[in-house]
Amino acid sequence: MNTVCCYCGVGCGITVRKNKLGRLQVEGNKDYPVNKGMLCSKGMNLHYTANDYSDRLLYPEMRYNRNQPRRRVSWDTALERTAAVFKTLIEKYGPDSVAFYASGQCLTEEYYVVNKLMKGYIGSNNIDTNSRLCMSSAVAAYKRSLGEDSVPVSYEDLELADVIFVAGANPAWCHPILWRRVEAARQRNPLLKIIVSDPRKTQTVASADIHFQLNPGTDITLHHAIGRALIENGWVDTTFIREHTEGFAAYRETVFQRSIAEAALICGVAETDILQAARYINKAKGFMTMWTMGLNQSVIGVNKNLSLINLNLITGHIGKPGSGPLSLTGQPNAMGGREVGGLSNLLPAHRNLSKEQHRREVEDFWGIAPGTISPRPGLTATEMFEALEDGRLKAIWILCTNPLISLPDVRRAEAALKKAKFVVVQEISNKPETLQYADVVLPAAAWTEKEGTMTNAERRISLLNKINDAPGEALPDATIICRFARKMGFPGFDYESPAAIFEEHAALTGGTKMDISSLNYNILRQRNSVQWPFTTKHLAAADKEDQQGTKRLFENQQFFTPTQRAQLHSFPDVNQSEPLTPDFPFILTTGRIRDQWHTMSKTGKVNKLRQHISASFLEIHPEDAAALGINEDDLVAVSNPRGEVRVRAKLTDTIKKGVVFLPMHWGKLLGRDLVRANNLTNNLTDPQSKEPDFKYTAVAICRY
Ligand code: SF4
Repeated sequence: MNTVCCYCGVGCGITVRKNKLGRLQVEGNKDYPVNKGMLCSKGMNLHYTANDYSDRLLYPEMRYNRNQPRRRVSWDTALERTAAVFKTLIEKYGPDSVAFYASGQCLTEEYYVVNKLMKGYIGSNNIDTNSRLCMSSAVAAYKRSLGEDSVPVSYEDLELADVIFVAGANPAWCHPILWRRVEAARQRNPLLKIIVSDPRKTQTVASADIHFQLNPGTDITLHHAIGRALIENGWVDTTFIREHTEGFAAYRETVFQRSIAEAALICGVAETDILQAARYINKAKGFMTMWTMGLNQSVIGVNKNLSLINLNLITGHIGKPGSGPLSLTGQPNAMGGREVGGLSNLLPAHRNLSKEQHRREVEDFWGIAPGTISPRPGLTATEMFEALEDGRLKAIWILCTNPLISLPDVRRAEAALKKAKFVVVQEISNKPETLQYADVVLPAAAWTEKEGTMTNAERRISLLNKINDAPGEALPDATIICRFARKMGFPGFDYESPAAIFEEHAALTGGTKMDISSLNYNILRQRNSVQWPFTTKHLAAADKEDQQGTKRLFENQQFFTPTQRAQLHSFPDVNQSEPLTPDFPFILTTGRIRDQWHTMSKTGKVNKLRQHISASFLEIHPEDAAALGINEDDLVAVSNPRGEVRVRAKLTDTIKKGVVFLPMHWGKLLGRDLVRANNLTNNLTDPQSKEPDFKYTAVAICRY
């Protein structure tokens, strides 16, 4: 049976079979347009995770106080107690005293019901997900520049481009199948130019014609300087700017405030490379920008995104083959979550929480009283834990995510969970550290054990078939949420199947820019996958390609803004990250390694994947190491006032001097070393997107 990989946002198609012993076997789906049979090391080894039940939660558990061990209970008991506690807290402290913290790994149907439950019935917008840590800067930037959270391109555009600018991303390791498509395109078209900006020489940089090994936090300066070079040399599309954008005069003024030489100095890159990059872009028939966490996870993340998208806009490289901005998503269904409004400031189908008309549309659709949906944005991921700490938030329900590894300044999050009056953890595994704070544990079905849909980073919606039964009494996440909603006494959660949830979600998109109201599971089965918007036109299309939905947005050059013009935004290029001091003089940046995914609760179980890199490490430049008396493989302490990490040093000149790198995957303890990178990261967030500043932390290093 066919499904989709449950790891990164590339969204590769996978065929799963059961062997004679009933064990699952996976292979790439050759008919799937994203990967055409290819899988990376993580996807290829998914069967090891799927067949391993050793850490699975099997039964609901509960306790009445934290000094007691949790005991197995029935689903009814667990959900009735949870409903009783939620009702009491809501009655006493109001609906904003409770929150759901979900995940970009949730299926769209799961997101939909938990969002509906919280915003439509509990009456609070305190539903956020770990996509806040990943994609929210891109969401805000798309909305501001293009009018809606809309990735305009398809992966195919990467194969049609002449220039690809990869900013703050290492797709060769983190989105490998997509990068293989770029490498294959390079073989077919040796003139394809690749520009990469990253403080580290990553595997992606190995393919680069230009590598901007820039100082962390200087991306806007670099993008502005390229913009200036394009304008100065007349390498912009003046017709497109005049007819389809707004804000060019202010943008021009902003980018001309620094000379290219000055910008090069600030970024720590060569002026000639900036000019060469502009030259490449000028010659390109197709110019793609692609980025991920290096831009998003920043205190100025939205502006970093906007400054890159500006380059597509001033050159008119959007809405045509091989051109446009492509934000890569770290998680498999970050986009599906955004479609149903699964963040604390969103409403379904890209409706705006602050607009009364949009709230009314959703209230009417859900059959709830006007005014039920609060216009106030709810708490975001980091705000939820701050609110638990200061007592504003009393209860949190954590589903499908592992915040005690993934949140910034994670010790603070730990203290917050300790203070929470009531914690529900909905999980597949008995490993996450959140479980030690849980009053109620709800065992969830895993990948292949449930049915639903996901949307990948190119707006492609795919159906994940149920292939095997969940162990013990574990249930699909959507079933758990709907059962809880009914225990709360809410109508509107009597779905017969995930297909019925999907159809309700699809109907709510009718008439919007992401209309999929004509879509259902049967069509997804027939057509393999489709890209939104998918309208009656696509449903009735005779042409095979048209049957697959919308490959590219804005081909008519009408954007989703009120004026239908794309917006060029201007802002200063000053970084707002935590300042370095003589005591904490190094910039710590965090990220992924090739064979692990997020907090390793799945990939960490696979021997083969652990063989690539088996333990955490600190990348440090040899000259920095020499100055500190650190040798290869020495145990080093990385510290700041928030905490410490102790790992082995890896000396490499692939990292910029003054910058050190820690992988983000490992949890609290591994042997005797403290290895959790987020012991060190800070609580600063982008003021527009509320996305944390994971890529810039001031630390001290010493030999331990
Ligand atoms: Fe899975 Fe991403 Fe690898 Fe594809 S590239 S197999 S989606 S982890």
